[in-house]
This record gives sequence, structure tokens and C-alpha cells, in this order.
Amino acid sequence: MDDLRGNIVIHRARWVLPLATPPIENGAVVVANGRIISTGQVHDVTTHQSGATVCDHGDSAIFPAFVNCHVHTELSALKKRLTPDRSFVQWVKELIALRRQIPEQQHRDAILSALDEMHSEGIAGFADIMNTDLTPEVLSAQGNRWGFSGFSFKEVIDPQGKWQFQPKPNKTGDIHREQVIHTCYSAHALYSVASCTLKAVKAWCNARQFPFSIHMAESLEEVEYITEGKGSLADFIALKAADSARCMNNFVPANSPVALADVLGLLDAKTLCIHCVQVSKKDMHLLSKQKATVCLCPQSNRFLSTGVAPVGDMLSSGIRLCIGTDSLASNDRLSMLAEMALIHEQHPAVEEHEILRMATLNGAKCLGLSGLGSLEPGKQASFLKIELPCDFLDRPVSFLVSEAAKIMERPGIIHWVT
Ligand SMILES: [Zn+2]
Repeated sequence: MDDLRGNIVIHRARWVLPLATPPIENGAVVVANGRIISTGQVHDVTTHQSGATVCDHGDSAIFPAFVNCHVHTELSALKKRLTPDRSFVQWVKELIALRRQIPEQQHRDAILSALDEMHSEGIAGFADIMNTDLTPEVLSAQGNRWGFSGFSFKEVIDPQGKWQFQPKPNKTGDIHREQVIHTCYSAHALYSVASCTLKAVKAWCNARQFPFSIHMAESLEEVEYITEGKGSLADFIALKAADSARCMNNFVPANSPVALADVLGLLDAKTLCIHCVQVSKKDMHLLSKQKATVCLCPQSNRFLSTGVAPVGDMLSSGIRLCIGTDSLASNDRLSMLAEMALIHEQHPAVEEHEILRMATLNGAKCLGLSGLGSLEPGKQASFLKIELPCDFLDRPVSFLVSEAAKIMERPGIIHWVT
């Protein structure tokens, strides 16, 4: 007991935002041996922990590290090299062509700086999508020095339904281990993966309790393809491959991408639907009924002019929402502060605390990262602080959600507490 007491540190700040419970003014977080023991009013906490070291963070807000639920770090070398004013299909074509021209070392360097950027932006957990092994190799070469937790999803693109399981993504061990990036499979999208493969990937993930990630209802082109089988996306995907996938799986046009995902049995509490910009009330009802999580990527959607997700209606429908930055091919920053600020700007009626929850606790829950997302007993003692300016001393959540992204343009505003 004496040994433990010697290791106890009380982090005091003007505000503590535990997320799972209401904000605490003049609050404290008690940590020992890398874990949170408790949170509370500083007076109550110090009474119970006499002899502990007190670390006073002044007029700061202490809050959980962010969880970025959708990123493609291996596309980081494409930052500011693609034109945002083309159509979605044009952007995809341009991306594929440019990506091949960039030397591998440039890709590796860009991945390393993207991982550094996420850490300096306060991101502790992520779900990364990959088509190569470059990011796991960079992470491994660096010994995951940032202490990231999360998933590298090996993305399946298989319009012809020929996908075979490979043994590699199986070597991930205990999925509850923290500060480890687990490798598993994800499906790219409903339009680029045959129905039989979509079902097989989902079953593979479910058998291992892994989340299942898939881009869904991102653009009008996708909706046109899924509902009518035509349009620029249909032209882009090799028609032969698409037709054979349809024949093989008795594919019939669906009412919407979400409706198709439901018919295929892809929607459940472990499913992460990325984007969901083009969704109807009926789609939202389905997503809610199946307890699927929607990952919002507002900066990417704005970059590609694919639309604005109906966040208010999604919340009213009871859908759990989390946030992803998407890649630097469709975003200039890997910043959850910037994503929150845009959601706040586009949906001013949505409660600010709800937006902060999307960037932290909701993301941790949908990915199953039990050590992250909130300041609660037993969680990782790895959290953030931000200095509150005078105007926001009484409104820490407002500052984080609506203002901090502007200040973060200058480095050094956000700090890791431990
Ligand atoms: Zn994506």
C-alpha cells in the first residue's frame, strides 16, 4: 500500500472533462502506475489521497485523448497534391495514378510524419485502412513509440468475388491488449467488393470480435450505382467484373447502399459505416435498429464536395456517431479538433458535449479500445490538457469543440499530461 501511495499523482486543473460523467470544475484526476484511479473535485480527492504528489495544471482543461476512427496513413504522401474540385470518381482516378508515381521511401516518410502529426494532435487510438504493409512496417520500425492503440485494416477490394483469406492478419493475439495496433480485414465499399466477399469478410471479423469497417453512402455516384447500376462509378469499375459479381451473388439493385448492407447482413453493433453522407430517414432507421456506428468525416466530405451528413437527424434516430479524419489525400490535417469544429459549424444545434463524445468515448467504444475514450477508474493514464483562454474559462467544451482547432494551427497548445 505504501509503495502504491508513493506512486500516486493527482492532476488538478480548472476543468476535468471525464466524458462518461459531467464536467468537473476545479477537478482532479488521480493516477497510479499508468492507470486512472479516480476523478472528482480536487478537495475531495486530496482528502482521500494524503501524501500523493499534486501536479497543478492551472487554468487548463484535462480531457481524454482522441480516437480517430477512419484514416488512411499510407496515402499521406498525397497531401495537397490532389485537386479537390473534381468529381468523386475523378478524384479516385487521380489518386490511383499519382500514388503509383511516388517512390516508396517518400510514402514511408509521409507515413512517419502522419503518425507524428496524429500524436501531436492528441490522438491515442485509430482505425487505419491499408492496401500495403507500409504503415505496420513504419510502426514496427519505430517500436510504436507513440503508444497508439487500434487497428490496421487490410482493405479488401474484390469486385469479382475471388478473394482468399491470407494467414497474416490472424497473428494479432489478444484484441484487448492496449498500445498495440491489431491487423485485420475490412471491406472497401459495397460497389467494389462482391456480395459473397462482403459476407465472408464480415464473418471473419465477427468470429474474432473485430470491428468491421466499410465506406458507405459517401457520394451520389455510389447511390446511383447501387440503386440503378449505372453512372460514372459504374463506368469506372470494370463492367465485366461488376457484372460477374452481380451474377455470382444474385445481386439486384437495392433501394440504397444502407439497405443493401442490411440485406447482406453486414450491419450490427461491430460495424463501422464510414461517411453515410447520402442517407435517407429510412436508412437512418435501419442503422439505428441494427446498432451500427456511423463514422463522420466532415473535412473529407467537404474537400470532395460529396455533401454533409445529416448529423442532427442521425442523433435523433439514436445512431452512435464517431469521427474520422480520413486521409491526407482528402484533408489537409489529421486533426480531431478540426473535424469537431466543422461539425459544430455545420450543425450548430448539436450539443457541444455530444460532439466531444464522438471524438473520444464513442470512437473508443465502437473500436473496443477499452483503455481509451474517457477518464474513468481503470482506464489508461494517458490524457490531454489544453490551456483555456480568459474568454473560455467557464466554457471548456465550447473552446475545445469550436475554437481550439484555429489555435492548433500554432503548435504546442495541446499537451499530453502523461
Ligand atoms: Zn476512407
